[in-house]
Amino acid sequence: MIDNIDIIRDIKRLRKEKNAIILAHYYQTGDIQDIADFVGDSLALSQKAASNNADIILFAGVKFMAETAKILAPEKKVLLPDMNAGCSLADSCKAEDFKKFIDENPGRTIVSYVNTSAEIKALSDIVCTSSNAIQIVESLPVNKKIIFAPDRNLGNYVLNKTGRDIVIWNGTCHVHEAFSLEGIIKLKEKYPEAKIIVHPECELPIRLVADFIGSTSSLLSFTKKDDSNVYIVATEPGIIHQMKNINPEKIYLPVPPRDSTCGCSECSFMKLITIEKIYNCLKNERPEIKLDKEIIINAGKPIRRMMEISEKLGL
Ligand code: SF4
Repeated sequence: MIDNIDIIRDIKRLRKEKNAIILAHYYQTGDIQDIADFVGDSLALSQKAASNNADIILFAGVKFMAETAKILAPEKKVLLPDMNAGCSLADSCKAEDFKKFIDENPGRTIVSYVNTSAEIKALSDIVCTSSNAIQIVESLPVNKKIIFAPDRNLGNYVLNKTGRDIVIWNGTCHVHEAFSLEGIIKLKEKYPEAKIIVHPECELPIRLVADFIGSTSSLLSFTKKDDSNVYIVATEPGIIHQMKNINPEKIYLPVPPRDSTCGCSECSFMKLITIEKIYNCLKNERPEIKLDKEIIINAGKPIRRMMEISEKLGL
């Protein structure tokens, strides 16, 4: 068995030989974030996938993210080290059920969160991420009625912020849905000076106690600029790796889940990706993301629409 140092050296060699780029989400483990060419949230990763000179994109993240990269760069080979790296939120919205939902709510503009399958994106008018969901909805004419899918918590957050007429698909992320309010209160009792920072996929009681609500990258920027020294972090704890890289002297406290038998709030799908799997994937150039041409065309339109608006708004 080769050790981690050898694997990392071999990944770097293969990446150069094959003109490959490694894109990693903030929820990946620290060792993977450290070896990646680019680390970001869903919006930044989509932007990077659409604009790079590599022949191969290896995606250290989950399947819907790798699919988005393939849709935006269909001429490139897109690899995902473990095809089981799914997403409970994306899985909560199946295309057959979503078609029925659209039929039951006719005439509405369909805004889908990037955490969906390529099929759902192909049924949508525009895609959004948690970094731009409010701005994307506000970019639509005021009289437009909207369907928002699949995250009910983000949908409610956007509805409250924009006041638009929105019907919301009833989906959730098993990580962001499970944070313990009691756990936050206990941490706050121990560290009264701590600021509570929360992802908008969290439930309302968690959002109500937040000092700041934002996407993963907004939470990172917040801790970078804010003058507090302690943060209670209600999102997947992988982001704490970057927070510590930027401000190592600060304290970051991950919020525990309600289920006391499980001590942490890590995304089990994200954590399926390992350094060893990245090495094997790059070496063998599989598993590879394959999508129908028609899906690539139809899912590409709403994603590009989002990217154009984000670019105009400087997001
Ligand atoms: S954290 Fe939630 S939304 Fe993100 S990939 Fe995991 S299951 Fe999906």
